[in-house]
Amino acid sequence: MRRPAAAPPCAVALLCAVLLAGCAGTAGERPDPADGRAQDPPRAVSAPRSLPPVVDHVPTRDPVVFLTYDDGAERDPRFVGLVRERRLPVSMFLTDSVVGPGYGHFARLRAVGASIQNHTLDHRALRGLPYAGQRAEVCGQQHKLRSRFGITPRLFRPPYGTYDRTTLRAAADCGITAVVLWRASLGADGELTYTRGEPRLRAGDIVSVPSGETGSPSLAERTERLLREIAERGLRVGRLEDHLEDGLQDGLLDRL
Ligand SMILES: [Zn+2]
Repeated sequence: MRRPAAAPPCAVALLCAVLLAGCAGTAGERPDPADGRAQDPPRAVSAPRSLPPVVDHVPTRDPVVFLTYDDGAERDPRFVGLVRERRLPVSMFLTDSVVGPGYGHFARLRAVGASIQNHTLDHRALRGLPYAGQRAEVCGQQHKLRSRFGITPRLFRPPYGTYDRTTLRAAADCGITAVVLWRASLGADGELTYTRGEPRLRAGDIVSVPSGETGSPSLAERTERLLREIAERGLRVGRLEDHLEDGLQDGLLDRL
């Protein structure tokens, strides 16, 4: 449970009511499309769910930044070697329709320390879509990743960084605890650009590394260059989900 503080009686009553309602009705509302597994048992935590924070930076005293990779289009074997050799706790936000039959590569990355997170089934821009459509994109990819890796991601990145309140509701209902954007992004020219704030890397920054364009240096090469810049600033690569979890527990997260 995210916040272990004593729940007032009304919260307990509400929890019971929600659980009862979940048992009594809408049995057909949560189909489990692809993997044929049984529906999850009711979760006896945090009902009704609060909306997940949207973050592009994690307050921390540790001299760390977080490297995040999107979509899953670029499957560079040397990148797997780099993650293994440098013990990089990177986060891979995967889109099913982009990864396609390429999940084996990401299993190898996961085996050497990368984490696998959710970036929707089909990479649609979610903002403005009805709840059912947004939920299908997020929960559908949760099911895919669970069937592929046996995990339920806690982090979600909306395609193009575009979202609305419905996105946050859908994400929460799919088990997501934080929606992850980025403060810095690595451009095709190898330079970092910033969405807001100071134009230099700071501890706690979330860095997006987009897929490379045709003819650009490989993912491993771009990451090595980025690692040099990170080291020059006295920083290293941290594990995003660990620091986010600490931030959630301490109530420290900046909400965008
Ligand atoms: Zn994307």
